[in-house]
Amino acid sequence: MKLYSTNNHDLNVDFATAVFNSMPLDKGLYMPVHIPELDQEFINHIDKFTLSQIAYKVASVLMKDTIPLEDLHSIIDDAINFEAPVVELGRDTYVLELFHGPSLAFKDFGARFMSRIMGYFLKDNEKMLDVLVATSGDTGGAVALGFLNVPNTRVTILYPKGKVSEIQELQLCTNGDNIHAIEVDGTFDDCQALVKQAFADEDLNGKLRLTSANSINISRLIPQTFYYFNAYAQLKRQGKSDVVFAVPSGNFGNIGAGLLAYKMGLPVKQFIAATNANDTVPRFLDTGVYETRPSVQTYANAMDVGAPSNWVRIMDFFKEDEAALKQIVKSKSYTDEQTLRAIKDIFETYDYVACPHTAIAWLALKEYQKDNSGSTGVFLSTAHACKFPDIFPEEIKARIEIPEQVAELSKKEKLATHLDTSFESFKAYLNRY
Ligand SMILES: *Cc1c(COP(=O)(O)O)cnc(C)c1O
Repeated sequence: MKLYSTNNHDLNVDFATAVFNSMPLDKGLYMPVHIPELDQEFINHIDKFTLSQIAYKVASVLMKDTIPLEDLHSIIDDAINFEAPVVELGRDTYVLELFHGPSLAFKDFGARFMSRIMGYFLKDNEKMLDVLVATSGDTGGAVALGFLNVPNTRVTILYPKGKVSEIQELQLCTNGDNIHAIEVDGTFDDCQALVKQAFADEDLNGKLRLTSANSINISRLIPQTFYYFNAYAQLKRQGKSDVVFAVPSGNFGNIGAGLLAYKMGLPVKQFIAATNANDTVPRFLDTGVYETRPSVQTYANAMDVGAPSNWVRIMDFFKEDEAALKQIVKSKSYTDEQTLRAIKDIFETYDYVACPHTAIAWLALKEYQKDNSGSTGVFLSTAHACKFPDIFPEEIKARIEIPEQVAELSKKEKLATHLDTSFESFKAYLNRY
């Protein structure tokens, strides 16, 4: 698998380079030079296969010249060791539950696969890989649990003090071993600024081998295609077709993976990118003007993104052909009030508790289905509701089932270093490694 940059189509790097760099020097995003299609025979019989068989097939088609198939097989078995069920809620209404991994969010797919790919490419005796991440909540947990005990790697996670939920904090701070959590007296933006400064700092880069683990990494995108194919397989088993995916979107990595699956031959009738008040993409699809804005805070805080980092990748999939893009991707934005209303409606209609991000996707699906009957609607549930307890009215909150992973966490000791927002403090911390 060779990759170019969205800013330079002549660039041609190998997969390992793209994985360790995350982003090309020209600040574009890495894209596969060639997107192979799955054979029609496989798609026609996809309902006969399990998630791990589908994952292996998709990955081998993309990466067969990159990693020996036997090794790819064990990476996938180790990384994708939980299910992604499609649950029927009502007529033509299905929820794709992506929260059955260790951090209870879909980011487990990307983070677990990426960590194992990085671990695989690291040779024995090579310098330790230092992964730096700033998180507003969900990314940190997935990366921490993804890299936990991966040899030759060390993860440093910065999170804003008091601004992540209790469960998210436990996921960041109870790991020990190669995972270090830093509680920063500031905002998510402060955390991100510290990480950026570290990447730009010559001394630190001379001493440590730094890498990022953010959602633009190509090795996070690939495993997210698996569950789209697998969802289609589950629906096909029930005789369903004309599938519409509604995807709660922030940085647009998740829907980007859906579009990669589509390019590889997954039959999809429509994608709907559902956003909160951070509506850069829906505005663009309406007006043709791409204008980023500072992010605003919402109930669906994992999608509080004003400048979606994966959007250029999506434009590149369609080679800037806006008409083709607009046909397959619709996008809608919803307010906090609508989100809360949707959480209640979902609970009352289906007796189901959806997290705020998930509820936004359901809203977009319902709006689409009003004008387009006969489609099979799937909305993606990106996180377990227990990660966002403060949003729910008491009677719904009481119905949230706490998964066993969480019960285990609460017994563990919280380990975090407390820092202010100055780069000197952070640098001194890293220099002690
Ligand atoms: C990260 C996240 C999203 C947004 O996903 P993108 O790939 O950034 O669009 C949505 N919901 C939850 C729960 C998340 O953690």
